[in-house]
Amino acid sequence: MSKSPTGATARAIAATEPVFERLKNGRTKKPLAPERVAAILDGLKKAYPKAVCALNHRNAWELMVATILSAQCTDVRVNLVTPALFAAFPTPKAMAAASLPELEELIRTTGFFRNKAKSIQGAGRVVMEEFGGKVPQTMEELLRVPGVARKTANVVLGSWFGIAVGVVVDTHVLRLSGRLELTKQSTPEKVEQDLMKVIPQASWIDFSHEVIFHGRQICIARKPRCADCTLERLCNSADKTWSSR
Ligand code: SF4
Repeated sequence: MSKSPTGATARAIAATEPVFERLKNGRTKKPLAPERVAAILDGLKKAYPKAVCALNHRNAWELMVATILSAQCTDVRVNLVTPALFAAFPTPKAMAAASLPELEELIRTTGFFRNKAKSIQGAGRVVMEEFGGKVPQTMEELLRVPGVARKTANVVLGSWFGIAVGVVVDTHVLRLSGRLELTKQSTPEKVEQDLMKVIPQASWIDFSHEVIFHGRQICIARKPRCADCTLERLCNSADKTWSSR
């Protein structure tokens, strides 16, 4: 049995959660019932009380660049390349002036490095030219930065500025939102809209961090570790590998 970061066993927490009625096809009767959503949020909070963004960064600029680099790449890999990248080009001004071959070499191992090099160089330019060298703090402005779509903007706004204007939907949030029946949609944009309707805004930032931890450690893509899952009694996913009932 695995231990959660709190030291409590995940199953011990799960044993206190209510069981929600399951339909014959393996689906929950009322998946969006407020008490069920609240129990999911509570279970995640108990299991991952200190969940934060796993990308190393010292400021909003570094977080934005690291998040751009994290597309189709692990946070661990990004954390390996960013120290040298930020040592060589520590500011938006320096990044804007960098040559593409230099940037490409530094970020090569993150994949899609040519496009990413263009994005972070362009991001430096736009932050300098349009925002006075400071990372903007609104969704609308952030979406003008090359390489920044809603996910990256939500990461920067939520994790650095503490502003909840949306929900970060990465591959883990996408998968778990489906398994937990919080959405029937499959695209990040539509899943985000559904999550914003069912999750209280005060929980948007933490929810993403907690789900990402849960997706990495327990509700993994290929073979979810349901016997160790804090949400097992709340979950009726067809992907379950083990059930207590
Ligand atoms: S599929 Fe398994 S691991 Fe994932 S949330 Fe459901 S019970 Fe937990």
